[in-house]
Amino acid sequence: MALIVQKYGGTSVANPERIMNVAQRVAKWKRAGNQVVVVVSAMSGETNRLIALAKAIQASPDPRELDVTVSTGEQVTIGLLAMALKEIGIKARSYTGGQVRILTDDAYTKARILSIDDQAMRADLDNDTVVIVAGFQGVDAAGNITTLGRGGSDTTGVALAAALKADECQIYTDVDGVYTTDPRIVPEARRLNTITFEEMLEMASLGSKVLQIRSVEFAGKYKVKLRVLSSLEELGKEGPGTLITLEEDKDMEQPIISGIAFSRDEAKLTVLGVPDRPGIAYQILGAVADANIDVDMIIQNIGHDGSTDISFTVNRGDYAKALALLQDKVKAQIGARDIIGDNKICKVSAVGVGMRSHPGIASQMFRALSEDGINIKMISTSEIKISVVVDEKYLELAVRSLHKAFGLDQAAA
Ligand code: ADP
Ligand code: ASP
Ligand code: MG
Repeated sequence: MALIVQKYGGTSVANPERIMNVAQRVAKWKRAGNQVVVVVSAMSGETNRLIALAKAIQASPDPRELDVTVSTGEQVTIGLLAMALKEIGIKARSYTGGQVRILTDDAYTKARILSIDDQAMRADLDNDTVVIVAGFQGVDAAGNITTLGRGGSDTTGVALAAALKADECQIYTDVDGVYTTDPRIVPEARRLNTITFEEMLEMASLGSKVLQIRSVEFAGKYKVKLRVLSSLEELGKEGPGTLITLEEDKDMEQPIISGIAFSRDEAKLTVLGVPDRPGIAYQILGAVADANIDVDMIIQNIGHDGSTDISFTVNRGDYAKALALLQDKVKAQIGARDIIGDNKICKVSAVGVGMRSHPGIASQMFRALSEDGINIKMISTSEIKISVVVDEKYLELAVRSLHKAFGLDQAAA
């Protein structure tokens, strides 16, 4: 008998029919003799709808009340799925995050899980009952409802699997695994049988939203066996999905590049004509950090005539705030000539552990982009990834171009 945690995303529970299908899939695993814990998201579109409602009342919604509001989406689906299971003769019981006691810190809208009480869940599992838990939500020490950030149900799933020492955590979604890139952008993308944690972590942090980054971190840290699968396949005809592996498969010839990730969520700011002396980068980026704005790539030009330019990228949502901060405060403080910005940029990245042992990947990437006439605005590299910033209008072309250049396109049938 195995203990399985299954997480079903928004499209998998989008309507009553899909919820009945999920119940059938859960029942199949249960009837096969497994203990099953199910985590569900809100119905697709519901979290966006709730956020829009909040914003119709308050332009910047109060974070505590926003969490109270948006967490309701998952409360609906746990109840419905429990009913669906009972309808087909399976014992089931729903739990909100607070009822389990998924304890988090009090950082509303992006809370982190601190601990999970497994007692009630264990008692149900021992009593032949399927446990259904609301994803994306927890409770802080004072009893306030918190949420874990967009896509957070993945993290609930993996965290429960870790807490219960589950044999496997299955993430069911609307694609049948992790692909070489988002199949919505590149139809030639291929499903990967396996991907290493390191690569998946990079892919997720560089914009591949198939798994929330924190869920991958959790799985790596607690060695949770994690698999991405489709909930839309017919029962009995399921594919193997994608296994996120801890180790590189030494026996197999690894591709050099495993995937192409991208993010539209980017903006660039440049401080022009700053004095080229110690402390300037700190004065600029320190002020940005103090305003709670995350900085991603940073470039400082070679100084000439005693002055230089510094460019950096931020999340597009923070662009207006960062621009105002630089213009109103930092510019005068450091005596910069001007501040310019661009929020119509995107980031495209190639990810692969094979890069470590293969030089020349960067130049291959730059050649492919230049052959398609795509201008590179910024570059950053790490051991297993190369990212470039390009104009947003080139996003799809750049992703397709790199996908092809690195031999990732599916062979024509
Ligand atoms: P869920 O609602 O089930 O959590 P998400 O929309 O969060 O589903 O994640 C699944 C989506 O992620 C897919 O429909 C796909 O468009 C997108 N996606 C982005 N990058 C990838 C990738 N590399 N492999 C598979 N899917 C990807
Ligand atoms: N419902 C939440 C969201 O849309 C959490 C999730 O689906 O994972 O972000
Ligand atoms: Mg998701």
